[in-house]
Amino acid sequence: MTDASNPLLETWTPPYGLPPFDRITDAHYAPGLEAALTEARAEIAAIANAQEAPTFDNTIRPLETGARKLGQVLRVFFHVAATDSTAEREALQKDFSGKLSAYNSEVITNAALFRRIAAVWAARADLGAEEARVTDLYYKDFTRSGAALEGAAKDRMTDIKARLALLGTEFTQNLLADERDWVMPLANGDLEGLPDFVIATAKSAAEERGMDGHVVTLSRSLIVPFLQFSPRRDLREQAYEAWVARGEHDGPTDNRGIAAEILALRDERAKLLGYGSFADYKLEPEMAKTPAAVRDLLMSVWAPAKASAEADAAVLTGMMQEDGVNGPLEAWDWRYYSEKRRQAEHDLDESELKPYLQLDKMIDAAFDCAARLFGLSFAPIDAPLAHPDARAWEIRRGDRLMAVFVGDYFARAGKRSGAWCGSLRSQHKLDGDTRAIVTNVCNFAKPAAGQPALLSFDDARTLFHEFGHALHHILSDVSYPMISGTSVARDFVELPSQLYEHWLEVPDVLQRYAVHAETGAPMPDDLLGRMLAASTYDMGFQTVEYVASALVDLAFHEGAAPADPMARQAEILSDIGMPHAIRMRHATPHFAHVFSGDGYSSGYYSYMWSEVMDADAFAAFEEAGSAFDADMASKLETHILSAGGSEEADALYQAFRGRMPGVEALLKGRGLDKAA
Ligand SMILES: [Zn+2]
Repeated sequence: MTDASNPLLETWTPPYGLPPFDRITDAHYAPGLEAALTEARAEIAAIANAQEAPTFDNTIRPLETGARKLGQVLRVFFHVAATDSTAEREALQKDFSGKLSAYNSEVITNAALFRRIAAVWAARADLGAEEARVTDLYYKDFTRSGAALEGAAKDRMTDIKARLALLGTEFTQNLLADERDWVMPLANGDLEGLPDFVIATAKSAAEERGMDGHVVTLSRSLIVPFLQFSPRRDLREQAYEAWVARGEHDGPTDNRGIAAEILALRDERAKLLGYGSFADYKLEPEMAKTPAAVRDLLMSVWAPAKASAEADAAVLTGMMQEDGVNGPLEAWDWRYYSEKRRQAEHDLDESELKPYLQLDKMIDAAFDCAARLFGLSFAPIDAPLAHPDARAWEIRRGDRLMAVFVGDYFARAGKRSGAWCGSLRSQHKLDGDTRAIVTNVCNFAKPAAGQPALLSFDDARTLFHEFGHALHHILSDVSYPMISGTSVARDFVELPSQLYEHWLEVPDVLQRYAVHAETGAPMPDDLLGRMLAASTYDMGFQTVEYVASALVDLAFHEGAAPADPMARQAEILSDIGMPHAIRMRHATPHFAHVFSGDGYSSGYYSYMWSEVMDADAFAAFEEAGSAFDADMASKLETHILSAGGSEEADALYQAFRGRMPGVEALLKGRGLDKAA
């Protein structure tokens, strides 16, 4: 095949510029990647070896305009591999990952290229604001990867990175082995009290292992409901203790030594790069910026969360004593008594709710909120997409095309679990007005033919969440891909998505769009009230188990690495007064967020950081008197949704809100403000 006949490498046609999915086949990916990598390497060499003095226009701009075909091939391939995987595509993905990491490390260790970037960076005061920002981001990407190191330090950095990659993989594999190897068979009498769905899951878990009857496994989707519903305290204890011991057994799957070595290597890596600690290094590009800011946030949530959890523990202990069980409430009791209390206080049955939450109506609701806030209009378009279940819309404001939006909502074999927002093209202005092509991928249950697709309230929330990410792309208005759309700090990227979830709960939105699939009647007020109240249930427990994990993660990466992480973990929990019946959401030997890779190391706090901001940002609309206040919507678009990463996240937030976020709205939203 020649490049000319490969649709992945073509310039895709206006007005939408969608990839020609009807002509792309699996045979195009490997040769497409080869051709695109060859072109990208030639571009990098031309930039690095240029004879003219380095300037923004001959160094940074071509890095931004370059590798365009590589971008096309990868965005299409990874979209298809994640939404419709096959054995062939999995094999391609392995091959692509190896080739890409080789290419990326070639670029980041290209000394001539780095010298030119550093020269442009040194003179960045003379550049425009966006150009200076983009230059700074390139410079930091390179220096933070060790591009400025020389000699022995450079070699040591290479060794550390390789060793960390290996340890991260071992940590994950040990965890998987411990999860796979443990089962607890249930005799028929042990099934008492378990709802049908738990019994069915326990039966299929046994079948998967070639066993008769029913078993409990350490999969979250089985063990959590077992702990919630089983009245057998002895079995709950046995299952719970196995669950929290993952990665903590003597022998070949022990993760404790691995965690210690990872922490020591990260500390060394940060010091080679000139930082005081790994947390200083990791937090520098984030909105939080410093370990002290993270600790302040976590501790201001900790005290009210703990007070709320302790009040709940007293209620649950009372319920347990009424059951004739004496002694303290234990960790394996919490979910069981909490579920009983939930049923008593918030009698809410998902099946009562479901007919009111139709997928198509919820899509309309998400679009309608965007119309009211930002003046956007949506019209379905007919275009070949990656899968027949996917749908596409053009989004306009007045006559102007703002973006193309692709929604791929139904679960299927071969689709990665969870939900996410991606883009097949980023917004930028390097050669005219290029608008984003945004994707939202979910895993909602597909209805039988002719039936409406119905969602749970969590599903509907997910739909709004992902559409909030989509708005970050749709409204993006910057010049460079580097800072376009969702290209922002990790602890800032969830702000638009979590914020958008609030509009789902606006009463007049639910009244209009939560209508019964058969009768068309709006959801009764009483049901609506119970649904909203249920969403803040047991927040003391959830906040305590989360914040404890986030505090341990932070402490591990501040200062010198602990020689014995388990001892350090115990010390931290004792310092903060961890309640007896609650354990960390993820203890060290199975804290995959922190040890399977670098992604969330000293970054586990960021979920809560984003929640503080989304609550505080939505409170701005409430203070203005309306969830659709025009002035607030305009500020949100100007300073956040259109601004991408054009400025530091704290500056963007301050411009929107007039101040930094406070925790009050989060405590109120979680129902924790009453406890203290
Ligand atoms: Zn998200």
